[in-house]
Amino acid sequence: MPLTLTVDGERWRAHLREVAAAQPGLVPVAKGNGYGFGLGRLARRVAWLGCDTLGVGTYEELPEVATRCAADLLVLTPWRPYGATAPQDTWHRRVVHTVSRPQDLPALLEVDPGARYVLELGTSMRRHGMSGRELRDLAATWGGVAPRGLRGVAVHLPLAGGHLDEVERLVQEAVAADLGAGARTLWVSHLTSTELDRLRTTHGDFTIRPRIGTDLWLGDRDALTVTATVLDVHPIARGETYGYRGRSAPRAGHLVVVSGGTAHGIGLEAPLGEGSVRARASTLARGSLDAAGLVRSPYTVDGKVRRFAEPPHMQASMLFLPSGARVPEIGAELPVRVRYTATTFDRVVVA
Ligand SMILES: *Cc1c(COP(=O)(O)O)cnc(C)c1O
Repeated sequence: MPLTLTVDGERWRAHLREVAAAQPGLVPVAKGNGYGFGLGRLARRVAWLGCDTLGVGTYEELPEVATRCAADLLVLTPWRPYGATAPQDTWHRRVVHTVSRPQDLPALLEVDPGARYVLELGTSMRRHGMSGRELRDLAATWGGVAPRGLRGVAVHLPLAGGHLDEVERLVQEAVAADLGAGARTLWVSHLTSTELDRLRTTHGDFTIRPRIGTDLWLGDRDALTVTATVLDVHPIARGETYGYRGRSAPRAGHLVVVSGGTAHGIGLEAPLGEGSVRARASTLARGSLDAAGLVRSPYTVDGKVRRFAEPPHMQASMLFLPSGARVPEIGAELPVRVRYTATTFDRVVVA
């Protein structure tokens, strides 16, 4: 039995609807592992949400979502000339490219003369994006008439709010560039609801398109439960050896073999075990799990977060359960704490 994400469907959908209602122009973002749900499942929600555009991370992700929704597909990773080929898929007309360097625009239009695109302005993120001056110089070549494919300006901000001054400056850059009518759409990422409302009020002539992933799909964590299954249980005496590395048990207890391993993204987070060499030495005699180098796992057994008996295997993990704790039955389900954007579940059950 697998590592499972169980979704309280009613609660999850209520949250999605709430976000969509609060954020006109919402562009849901589906990328990577699909925030734990899978790209296809998220793509199938787009029409239901009433959205006309889905954001994806990379060009490689397009085929998986394109067959599952009819929306426009905004690629968040900027287009680059290397590896570019003329579009062939039937859905390529739905793609909206991100152009983050002035020289990439003519190169894109050469490969795909009918391309639609947003121009990305650089922000304090310093990831991608052209300067205000580059945007102005580019627009100056158009003579006030926006090119047919231009869909607006994109800005990607750091997390955690406090962006209003920066956004204001960026909007001024876009205005100063005089991109022409048809380009008065601002595609923004990581603005708070308050910041978005402010922007809509102060720049009523711009259409604001918030691109949201985490706060949409993962915004109501109480709708989500992650469980693993107990696959096996073995009593172990102190000093007995176990595992790939022939470690010896620091204390008597049980080895609990559970579903979920490195292939699922289990155990990738930094272990919390600490302690100096001296602290280790002084507790070693007492059979301390810290001293034995057993690090905290994300699994809970009998109400407590337990240690890995050894580093996670590819699809299963071994936990050490000290004697005294209630031993779970084979087949029991255990709570697991995971990072949703870094976990591949075996099963997603929308209940
Ligand atoms: C991933 C991404 C988003 C969505 O990010 P969340 O934090 O998941 O909402 C928005 N914009 C860009 C450019 C991104 O790369």
